[in-house]
Amino acid sequence: MNKSAEREICIIGGGMGSISAAIYLRSKGYEVSVFEKNSTLGGRANIIEEKGFRFDVGPSLLNYPWIFENLFEAAGEKMDDHIDLIEIKSGVKFLWDDKETFTITSDFPRLSKEIARLEKSHINGLNSFLKVNSKRYNIAFEKLLNRNLDNPLGWGIGLGFSELLSGSMFKSMYSDLGKHFKSDYIKQAFGSYAMYLGGSPFKIPGFFSILPYGEIAYGLWMPKGGIYSLIEKLENILEKKGVKVFKNSQVSEIITNNNEVKGIVLEDGRSIPYEIVISNVDLPTTESKLIKKINNNSFDKKQMTPSVMTFYWGLNKETDFPHHMIFLPDDYKGCFDDLFIKKTFPNGMPFYTSSPSVSDKSLSPSGKSTLFVLIPLPVTEKDNEINIYSNEIEKIKTRIFDRFKHHNIDLTQDNIEYEKIYTPDEWKNLFGLYKTSAFGASHNLFNIGPFRNKNKSRCKGLYYVGASTTPGTGLPMVTLSGKLVSDRIENDFS
Ligand SMILES: Cc1cc2nc3c(=O)[nH]c(=O)nc-3n(C[C@H](O)[C@H](O)[C@H](O)COP(=O)(O)OP(=O)(O)OC[C@H]3O[C@@H](n4cnc5c(N)ncnc54)[C@H](O)[C@@H]3O)c2cc1C
Repeated sequence: MNKSAEREICIIGGGMGSISAAIYLRSKGYEVSVFEKNSTLGGRANIIEEKGFRFDVGPSLLNYPWIFENLFEAAGEKMDDHIDLIEIKSGVKFLWDDKETFTITSDFPRLSKEIARLEKSHINGLNSFLKVNSKRYNIAFEKLLNRNLDNPLGWGIGLGFSELLSGSMFKSMYSDLGKHFKSDYIKQAFGSYAMYLGGSPFKIPGFFSILPYGEIAYGLWMPKGGIYSLIEKLENILEKKGVKVFKNSQVSEIITNNNEVKGIVLEDGRSIPYEIVISNVDLPTTESKLIKKINNNSFDKKQMTPSVMTFYWGLNKETDFPHHMIFLPDDYKGCFDDLFIKKTFPNGMPFYTSSPSVSDKSLSPSGKSTLFVLIPLPVTEKDNEINIYSNEIEKIKTRIFDRFKHHNIDLTQDNIEYEKIYTPDEWKNLFGLYKTSAFGASHNLFNIGPFRNKNKSRCKGLYYVGASTTPGTGLPMVTLSGKLVSDRIENDFS
């Protein structure tokens, strides 16, 4: 018997990062137990099924499918045998108050036309954008995101001196985009990805232009049945591989002694000894709430990604909306300042909509459709505060429908047959999110690479996986996070 097979690992929380860590560790021979407080796995990638409508609770778009293929392969399976991936060729349509529109799509001829229309002249900007970011993308996935890089020197070497000299880590995404495009609409659309990284495109490093690049070069995807079908298939694999999954099992404490992990305490008072514990509970929540002896409040000052209010509407008619739409305000810079600096209700209220039943009719009853709406909002100053925007449901809803009317989108509140709403505080309470932040720690310069919260605690035997640790937020990144933490444990214990 090899050494790993003698070790039992406890993972607290059953989000995507946990599922990935469990599969990678099990493939190395470890015994793994997952304790999830809710009745379903998936964490933020969860499901609402009511009255024939099926909604993904959080993630609605899937990037970089090869990261998930690798996860299936680690379990000795082929993703294609489990999942039908649908490519969302319609991409993401952006709409402004002045009624201008722009679509980012992997359909290259269509994207070229869109860019030429707004740049009014040529598409050389698109070619140079693709060239620069293809190089960065390769650096990111071949040298930075696939390994545990703890020291800034190793990270700088991975990044490469030409990239360091280009200043892409020190210049903002907006100014980086300005090297390729003149149109404010194009820069604003590409720059809006910064929102989910927890910052403004005027502050987030230019290197992150690889996000819109990734969607253009590698497409936007959705598994048939919605994102949650990925979680369902992976849960079957956990069971097949012998990972023990305990649902409705909230952990109230990680027991430590002399800076070493000793086990966990469940909400019902039972304590279970473990030498190795991985927490998939958002890292700042773990450190401030679950480890009584550390009780780390240093996260109070760290920038977090925004909170969100989300609406799940089952509509009494079919729609022909583009699958993904983003409604941007006239005062683009002002709305980012409101969200991240002034922490006030964002002027012009940008929001995102997803209409998955347009691409997969099985997600709603025949003749009907589903609509998901996401509004980014400021986080709270302190973790123990209520988010005041949780009380603004009616105001927000009215603004959404006013904006639809403004764009002649044929939808009113009378079309809502089924409704569910998650406020920022509901998000926090359901999944243990810190300060109501929806996507975890932000990705400003001092919170990426070796500067981001490490996946290994100073407390021996305690590790982290998920959105607020390395490499970052989003389903592909937390899936990589599961691989990184399994590599780390193998290195420390084999
Ligand atoms: C609204 C929204 C939209 C998003 N859209 C996208 C998208 O389109 N594409 C994309 O790639 N990403 C998207 N994301 C980001 C993505 O969902 C997250 O980065 C990812 O799912 C986080 O996974 P995680 O491993 O950090 O775990 P989490 O999802 O945070 O899971 C942690 C788990 O721990 C459990 N838990 C908490 N406390 C305890 C406890 N004390 N005991 C036991 N269990 C506990 C929770 O219930 C939860 O199941 C979105 C996120 C949100 C919120």
